[in-house]
Amino acid sequence: MTPKQQHAFDKSAFKISMVQHLTQLGHAPDTAQLRDWYLALGRALAEHTTSDLVATEHDQAIKQAKSVNYLSLEFLIGRLTGNNLISMGLYDAIADAVSELGLGLTDLLEQERDPSLGNGGLGRLAACFMDSLAAQQYPAVGYGLHYEYGLFRQSFHEGAQQEAPDAWREPEGYPWELVRPELSQIIGFYGHVEVVEEAGHTYRQWVPSLKIQAMPWDLPIVGYQSNTVYPLRLWEGRALTPFALDAFNAGDYTHAQQADIDAGNLTKVLYPNDNHDAGKTLRLMQQYFHSAASVADILRRHLEAGHALAALPEYETIQLNDTHPTIAIPELMRVLLDDYRLGWDEAWSIASRTFAYTNHTLLPEALETWSEALIARLLPRHMEIIFEINHRFMQEVEAKWPDDVAKKQVLSVIDDKGERMVRMANLCVVGSYAVNGVAALHSQLVKRDLFPEFDALYPGRIQNVTNGITPRRWLKFCNPDLSNLISEKIGEQWPAQLEQLEQIAQYADDTAFQKIFMDVKKRNKQRLAGWVKEHLDITLNTDAIFDVQIKRLHEYKRQHLNLLHVISLYQRLLNEPDFDMAPRVVFFAAKAAPGYELAKSIIYAINKVAETINNDPRVGDKLKVVFIPDYRVSMAEIIIPAADVSEQISMAGKEASGTGNMKMALNGALTIGTMDGANVEIREEVGDDNIYIFGLDVDGVSELRQKGYQPEAVYHSQPLLKAALDSLLDETFTPGQPGALRPVFDSVMGSGDPYLCLADFADYVRAHNDIDRDYRDASQWARKAILNTALVGKFSSDRSIRDYVNNIWQLEAIKR
Ligand code: PLP
Repeated sequence: MTPKQQHAFDKSAFKISMVQHLTQLGHAPDTAQLRDWYLALGRALAEHTTSDLVATEHDQAIKQAKSVNYLSLEFLIGRLTGNNLISMGLYDAIADAVSELGLGLTDLLEQERDPSLGNGGLGRLAACFMDSLAAQQYPAVGYGLHYEYGLFRQSFHEGAQQEAPDAWREPEGYPWELVRPELSQIIGFYGHVEVVEEAGHTYRQWVPSLKIQAMPWDLPIVGYQSNTVYPLRLWEGRALTPFALDAFNAGDYTHAQQADIDAGNLTKVLYPNDNHDAGKTLRLMQQYFHSAASVADILRRHLEAGHALAALPEYETIQLNDTHPTIAIPELMRVLLDDYRLGWDEAWSIASRTFAYTNHTLLPEALETWSEALIARLLPRHMEIIFEINHRFMQEVEAKWPDDVAKKQVLSVIDDKGERMVRMANLCVVGSYAVNGVAALHSQLVKRDLFPEFDALYPGRIQNVTNGITPRRWLKFCNPDLSNLISEKIGEQWPAQLEQLEQIAQYADDTAFQKIFMDVKKRNKQRLAGWVKEHLDITLNTDAIFDVQIKRLHEYKRQHLNLLHVISLYQRLLNEPDFDMAPRVVFFAAKAAPGYELAKSIIYAINKVAETINNDPRVGDKLKVVFIPDYRVSMAEIIIPAADVSEQISMAGKEASGTGNMKMALNGALTIGTMDGANVEIREEVGDDNIYIFGLDVDGVSELRQKGYQPEAVYHSQPLLKAALDSLLDETFTPGQPGALRPVFDSVMGSGDPYLCLADFADYVRAHNDIDRDYRDASQWARKAILNTALVGKFSSDRSIRDYVNNIWQLEAIKR
């Protein structure tokens, strides 16, 4: 809704519309359940966003401007209703309207299931970026997949992770989505390549043997306080073959539905892996399906707007969110060469000026490679094109470094040591006009360690764009009390200009403001404690330090280092009569990839330790450990505003950026962190006094490895650490089951401690002691918390998007 329409918001008309939608859903107002009302609310609101979506789509100024196409296999958007109300400027008006219907808006919003169409940071980043593109009105389309099941729902059975399917669309469908059959595409797989002769030229033509329909569903990305609504277009796989009525009539029900089953499987489920390449055929099929449908749609828009094919890079840029959509590069080449019959040089000039690639990781296990044999079978023409790209690229390398076999080996798109594999990241760098890392340190390491040869060959191509988060969802919506406090002090502009928060810094020493600020924090802690009481039946002391680690479970993120600290606090409470500490609640929330055994063992260990500590009367409310199940965006929205301490403790050099770190700092939590990812830049912004940095930095890590690291020596030299580790081997936390936590012990002691938990333990404990000391000085702590909120304006995703726009994409904002 436009600002003009907001003034004209007609409450009674809206209530009538809600009741009409309720009736269409088959319910009467006096008997309808909350869920029915939520669906009616969503549908009534979506009427407005759909008309703005269509109007934006038909805007001539946008068609004549350059757009970014954000290609991502994941968009972890979270619930849309509350966020859209904020963007539409209608939150209070709708709260008022529904209260007249006898309903509470927050209760209605709670009815929405999170669309969890992503694993973690990468998918959530894509969602924040769409929000910031729409808010700043840089023309954009997001392209993703319409998974029937999002990331699994997590529960615990006797401490162990259980996974259940996430049917996020509910039986009635999701009220915000709009199916667009007129924009569907047909996508091929398998088959062979034919040579065709025409007018004295030979062309190659792929003849796929399987075809699947790509059906787009649009979700509205509503610009904050504007009537710009961009589509997040999600492709769903559908059977193309008509339903086999003959077979059905003859009683062969399974065969009749076979095509539906195959096509439907394609986008059935999101792969639940974070920072790990699983290499499954269905996953490559998903990637190609996503890429091909998106490239086809981009070309359709471009040509329908009346632009020449050769002008594609002037009107469209395609941002690849990690290597997952890399196959879009050979796909665009295939279309240009085989369908439009351009020559190689012309096609390559177009493609290589259209794509840009974001690298999200240096972890070797996450750098995607696909078997050449698999690609050749599934996408035979694409494999030919990849060979040709690589052949020409190798000539370039030869020209730059004649006779240098080693250079060719590291740069080649094909890895031919062992089974021949296609290195997707190399293909991305070769086929893109810009490559970026996601935080200053990470981008530096991409240049120095991952792609030094590429950096030498293409100076300037590898850049940095530090990640960001949308302040609309991650402050204005999730923390209304803090938002109101900020607005009272500095006005209402900050959600669109987050740097303005700096003005809050002047109140950091104002005791009256400190009290109000910490009262807000207290209420947020009470809200979280209420949730924990209701769902987990654990009573929490809200005066305690709320110490929070929420993120995917991964060894490199070192939840087990946190666990060792928790155990050592427990042991000190029991064994040292003079030991005193400020009360603490340590929160964990994390999903482990279902196939990642050690990650699941760590979850199990945390749950077992939590159970023991929480039920030990000797501990009282000095220490509690809470593992919140099913971490997701809507849960993050409750936990983050309540955090006092933000755990960002990855081994230096492993976390590309992190965005949870930014969210908690913005909401007034103090970071305990390593010099990793965006922690480095958070420290630059908030200053050394307002962050707790510990542990080895990137250089320290490599020096230690060079010297030769022996975790056993650390174990034997540090009694606190040794005692904590030993308790994993006996029955302390698993009565009657000694050794049940051994996998966690072995992961640091038997496997050489690959993520240096033991090496960083002592300094981690030291940093936590500093936190304990500082938290007891309420005024000093409040000052630090206020300064965190005030000084992290840099981490707005609006700024990230402006960096992409100015340094990479070169877009103009189109104000509607
Ligand atoms: N999962 C969810 C639901 C999130 O909201 C976020 C980011 O805030 C992440 C994962 C990524 O967290 P981190 O950057 O701490 O790994």
